[in-house]
Amino acid sequence: MGDDCVLTSSGLAAEMVTALTLCKAGDEILCMQDVYGGTARLFNDLLSRCGIRTRYVAFDELGRIEKFFSARTRMIFLETPANPILRCVDVAAICKKAKRRRIPVVVDNTFATPVLQKPLALGADVVLHSATKYLGGHSDLTAGAVVSGAKWSKALRQNMILSGACSDPGVAYLLLRGLKTLTVRMEKSCANALQVAEFLSGHKKVARVYYPGLPDSPDHAIARRQMTGFGAMVSFDIRGGGTAAEAFMNSLRLWYIATSLGGVESTVSYPVLSSHSSLSRGKLKRMGVSAATVRLSVGIEDSADLTADLGQALEHH
Ligand SMILES: *Cc1c(COP(=O)(O)O)cnc(C)c1O
Repeated sequence: MGDDCVLTSSGLAAEMVTALTLCKAGDEILCMQDVYGGTARLFNDLLSRCGIRTRYVAFDELGRIEKFFSARTRMIFLETPANPILRCVDVAAICKKAKRRRIPVVVDNTFATPVLQKPLALGADVVLHSATKYLGGHSDLTAGAVVSGAKWSKALRQNMILSGACSDPGVAYLLLRGLKTLTVRMEKSCANALQVAEFLSGHKKVARVYYPGLPDSPDHAIARRQMTGFGAMVSFDIRGGGTAAEAFMNSLRLWYIATSLGGVESTVSYPVLSSHSSLSRGKLKRMGVSAATVRLSVGIEDSADLTADLGQALEHH
């Protein structure tokens, strides 16, 4: 489906090049609220200085996104599954509405990877990735990728070069190595993630599990429709709030504490103190995130080892 893939120095560079290609001063980005924290900071703090304004749409309003369209809207930005509670957006439905108004739709496909989800086939115009995560897969490189049809690919490549967002050959080498195992890594980590999600769902110290692969997830149906697997990110709310969350994380032996994700090793992060630390309590609440929320990036280790470690750490607090 894609005409070209432009490699960039990071996922954020991929977003910057995309925004500067699709938008100019005076234009507006319509962005879903639940995006990666760095994305919102790029739009708010940097693109605003180039005269590009961003309006945010709450997750529950995405079904009526056309209400937010204006003559200035030049880009819709979606992320699915989204950070940190893994809500899934109906990409095809939004693309249909955007097409009528000729507004390009950009999808951040970092969490799903092309193995599980192909937004161009769902009608998106541009797909981007933080290759730092699953595409590289070994937590040893920083890169981004932008994939698009013929309409944008030339300009994207040119603007990548002009803005200095290019990557380097050493990184490209590591990335190519990582890509060779992307499919098998995704298969194993998705299978592990389901085991972890099911284990947590049945645990008395867990209040709620967020994973689109669980049949009672509010996004299970849409994830089934537009993905071929449910991904390897699992979040949950621990009973006992922030104190319990910190005690739990500090008791883990196998899972690394890390903000990054998508590597072969399983990692745990704490959104309110890392990726979402700049957000107000009210905003976090609207996004469904609290001090009890813990986010897991499930790797390719033995699933019994992973659940055993979670189990012993949950008993600790
Ligand atoms: C990490 C991440 C980014 C930013 O990527 P970098 O390579 O760290 O610049 C963008 N989107 C999502 C969903 C991410 O997880």
